[in-house]
Amino acid sequence: MTRTDVTTRDTAAAVPAQRSGVTPGTWLHIPSAAPGVLRVRPLTGEATASYVQQLAASYQLTLPQLLHGVGIALQGHGTLPAAELHLNHNAARHLAVLARTPLPRLTRALPRLAPHDEAHHIAATARWKRLEAWQQPVRACTLCTRHRSHDATDTAWVQPAPHRLMCPRHHQAVPDPRLTSTVRTWAVPELVAAHHAHQRLLRHPRAATAWTAARAITSRWYDHQQHLTNGWHTRLTRLCAANPHLATTGSASPALLTRDLVIYPETVTLARALAALPNRPHPDTGKALNLIAHRLGLPHLASNANDPLRAFLTHTRH
Ligand SMILES: [Zn+2]
Repeated sequence: MTRTDVTTRDTAAAVPAQRSGVTPGTWLHIPSAAPGVLRVRPLTGEATASYVQQLAASYQLTLPQLLHGVGIALQGHGTLPAAELHLNHNAARHLAVLARTPLPRLTRALPRLAPHDEAHHIAATARWKRLEAWQQPVRACTLCTRHRSHDATDTAWVQPAPHRLMCPRHHQAVPDPRLTSTVRTWAVPELVAAHHAHQRLLRHPRAATAWTAARAITSRWYDHQQHLTNGWHTRLTRLCAANPHLATTGSASPALLTRDLVIYPETVTLARALAALPNRPHPDTGKALNLIAHRLGLPHLASNANDPLRAFLTHTRH
């Protein structure tokens, strides 16, 4: 790994002060960074352990060394992405000072940082906790990570969020937590437009419920090869051609691993249409189906009573 001179100087300035017996409290109140000190910005949605790891690397320390150096007692063992670091309130405060970022801002960026305890007097602790598969973070965009670490690493982990499925700048995405490398999406440029449309959807008060419904519906269409099969197949073929590693991920087929990405543009379109539907007790299902078909670029949505969209329009919206 390459390091810049800036990082080395920073290490020299900060760490001996710690080891010379200055109490963490004293050290933590040093108000301003030395000239040239590297500030490690959190990636949006970054896993706490990933951020602490990056911070440690910028000081050329291991994660346990860094935590020890700022007076945070580390409990247990773990590695990313199978485990996450849980910091108590005091540890989070120490981390914020070390990161030279106000705690509220750091907590907004690191969704798992929010301390659950209010016991401000107790010692600062960080504890590794194993995560279930569905709780695990996914690889962040490698180019965003390289940029942030000044080329030191391309590996960071973020909590998956539907509206951050892809990096629109660098055309990368991780549509399934089983993927340990990112998927390159240059071959499917419509994903960028979908990303921006999704950000606009978030302003809508019914965005979350509309998204959940839309994703359930398009996932089912995909699995049952309904309505949009041809377009989705073309997209899947392009993604597979650009990402040979999809075929060797083993645990699941490329069609399954990329599903959220392949259906993403239509899921966003459908979610926006559902969010915009008038909230009437007895919606005109036929009219809504025609409107949605038009939005999805389909001549019509000939569907039986079991179609998940028809079922949603008929039964759910009361
Ligand atoms: Zn990026």
